[in-house]
Amino acid sequence: MTEEETLELKVVKDQGIVKWGSLRVVILRADTLFDLINSIERFTSRPEILITLGQQIGYKYAENMKNSNIFEAKSLWTENKEDFLKIVLTTDTYGGWGRFELERAEKNKIVIKVYNSFLASIYLKRFGKSDHPICAFLLGYFQGILASIFNKDITEILGAEEKCEAMGDDYCQFEYILQ
Ligand SMILES: [Zn+2]
Repeated sequence: MTEEETLELKVVKDQGIVKWGSLRVVILRADTLFDLINSIERFTSRPEILITLGQQIGYKYAENMKNSNIFEAKSLWTENKEDFLKIVLTTDTYGGWGRFELERAEKNKIVIKVYNSFLASIYLKRFGKSDHPICAFLLGYFQGILASIFNKDITEILGAEEKCEAMGDDYCQFEYILQ
């Protein structure tokens, strides 16, 4: 199966189902997902909740990908963790979350660049430039993915969003140290 075939969206109209490869997906407008994520912060008044939410979702996603045939993820998982990480990031790129790139993977340091983060784009459109990075959900999301792949506790992965498109940078940049 080619990449295109595997990731082609298939609408099963009479059942009201959309499939992406073998996965059932739900398509949300990017604005809706932005509101959904940010309303959790608003209702709890705990900004760090977005990081926790991202961690849980990222962790589960990477765990699921270990048994997925998308981009032959399952066999990559057993062969090479860095290649597997790249595949996990690629699938999100196909999902329209932004273009995720693994910028550098040294022994204990991982840098992930995100071009066109849907969070930063919508933030800019609605509120204008921010004086701080705003992609807390993605910061936690990648932490969760890294914890799953490198078999670490979430507290062993220190991370920060060093650049953010919402601040006027050309891309968002997330840096992690694996302890
Ligand atoms: Zn950002």
